[in-house]
Amino acid sequence: MKIRENFSLRAYNTFGIDIKARLFFEAHNSEDVLEAISQADSLGKHLFVLGGGSNVLLVGDIDALVLKIAIQGIEKTEEDEDTVLLKAGAGVIWQDLVHFSLNMGLSGLENLSLIPGTVGAAPMQNIGAYGVELQSTFDHLEAIEIATKNRKIITKATCAFGYRDSIFKNKWKGRYIITRVAFRLSKKHQPITSYGDIERTLKEMGSLPATPENISRAVIKIRQQKLPDPKKIGNAGSFFKNPSIPLGEFSLLKERFPTIPGFRLGELVKVPAAWLIEQAGWKGKRFGAIGVHEKQPLVLVNYGGGEGSEIVALSEKIQADIREKFGITLEREVNLIGPDEWAKT
Ligand SMILES: Cc1cc2nc3c(=O)[nH]c(=O)nc-3n(C[C@H](O)[C@H](O)[C@H](O)COP(=O)(O)OP(=O)(O)OC[C@H]3O[C@@H](n4cnc5c(N)ncnc54)[C@H](O)[C@@H]3O)c2cc1C
Repeated sequence: MKIRENFSLRAYNTFGIDIKARLFFEAHNSEDVLEAISQADSLGKHLFVLGGGSNVLLVGDIDALVLKIAIQGIEKTEEDEDTVLLKAGAGVIWQDLVHFSLNMGLSGLENLSLIPGTVGAAPMQNIGAYGVELQSTFDHLEAIEIATKNRKIITKATCAFGYRDSIFKNKWKGRYIITRVAFRLSKKHQPITSYGDIERTLKEMGSLPATPENISRAVIKIRQQKLPDPKKIGNAGSFFKNPSIPLGEFSLLKERFPTIPGFRLGELVKVPAAWLIEQAGWKGKRFGAIGVHEKQPLVLVNYGGGEGSEIVALSEKIQADIREKFGITLEREVNLIGPDEWAKT
């Protein structure tokens, strides 16, 4: 087992934060994962599981064994008249799975095209985009429980999926290492094009009818226009979740801010965090090496050389300002990985 020491994670997180892992190891299969658990245990270190590093903000060096999940492989494991079950290794790049499914003529993942990161991290926050969430095609996952080293199959009902949320971010945080994920994809296509600019982009591209491939191409085009490319400017996508507030509270805000957008969800209204941040005047603001993206205010960026602690401080200022101006608390979507996590008790 080749463990590296004091290993720079700069190329392993899309914010491009230059911090070091005390120990670093890449797992290519379940046996590697089991070995890493044993090693961390005998060295008295915590394990920190890393996928593509596109949803983490690293604050300070990591005094733990960082386990980069690189388990590959996509296979068809079941098929019936209408559906196919595809199972993918946790280290497969998400977009490679989307591409694979489209090449097989399957539908279900096209709206989630070009989301960065790995398959194994996707259930963590029930990734979502353009009106679709992972949970609509998720079937089950395979995982290893760190405390017992037992292999488990975890089905959808257990995952408690919600908006950018699952049991793995809450009750079971840090408990399991996901090794494979299975998706039930459809042979029959039911296009979802009403969200965002998909319909307009399909027309502009001359890409009708709305087949899964065409929807995927349109989503990729929209994303490339709207979001900063982490290869050019460090970022982790949306830094905050869109808040949901009670209907009564929204009505009062609407009186004060008549243009405030809101999407009704029963007795709650979801408000775009990007609108709040832009209204509060943060869009495009730069502070040395870090800032708020000029086109997408929900995205905090590292122009190069910025530190995790600076981005945390900026995010806290934005949260305080939004609370003061609108009475709304913004919740972080990005996982903050700080030094407090590594104290072994
Ligand atoms: C430009 C950009 C756009 C984005 N757009 C979207 C979007 O539209 N929708 C969306 O939902 N997200 C979006 N994201 C966020 C991100 O891409 C997703 O959350 C993605 O699933 C993270 O995958 P990752 O492999 O990079 O995870 P990481 O950042 O490596 O890890 C995220 C968390 O999952 C844990 N983890 C990772 N792998 C495993 C595993 N195998 N087992 C157990 N725990 C694990 C980590 O410990 C960490 O807590 C975007 C990010 C960027 C940079």
